[in-house]
Amino acid sequence: MDCCTTSNCSCCENSYIETLSQACPVCKYQGMLVKNFTVKHIVLDEYLSQVGSNDYFLCTNPECDVGYYQGENVFYKQQLKVPIWLKKDANPKYVCYCSKVTEDDIMEAVLKKGAKTLSEVCKITGAMKDCKCEINNPTGKCCADIVKEVFEKAIKIKERNTDCLN
Ligand SMILES: [Zn+2]
Repeated sequence: MDCCTTSNCSCCENSYIETLSQACPVCKYQGMLVKNFTVKHIVLDEYLSQVGSNDYFLCTNPECDVGYYQGENVFYKQQLKVPIWLKKDANPKYVCYCSKVTEDDIMEAVLKKGAKTLSEVCKITGAMKDCKCEINNPTGKCCADIVKEVFEKAIKIKERNTDCLN
């Protein structure tokens, strides 16, 4: 499914329904609800048996090492297959996990390869081409909003750079 051209792909449906959240047991930040099957895809295989059948919360604090938590169960970011983009030291910092496109790839598409629109960025980087965000993205949500956010940030940098040259 192509999120660039389809506004209602299956991974975007119900993406932003917020549920009452539990605070992170380590940093006390409010978490983001993540479905059980997403957690099962992201947690390293050796910890899979500890996941159980509940939905989890993702700690959204960039400074905190906790990835997912649910009651007594905690999975630290080191126990996950991919870095969580919203953590401060995520490396690489994937924006689109399905196509393994990083924040730097999007910046480069705009600043060095001349992409002027979001769909040009998608074409150059391959972002959002094959959407399986529910299982590939640690938040379980569609990456479209984050790709757009980084794109807009890149455009602002580009405009600022052009101003300096004039
Ligand atoms: Zn935390």
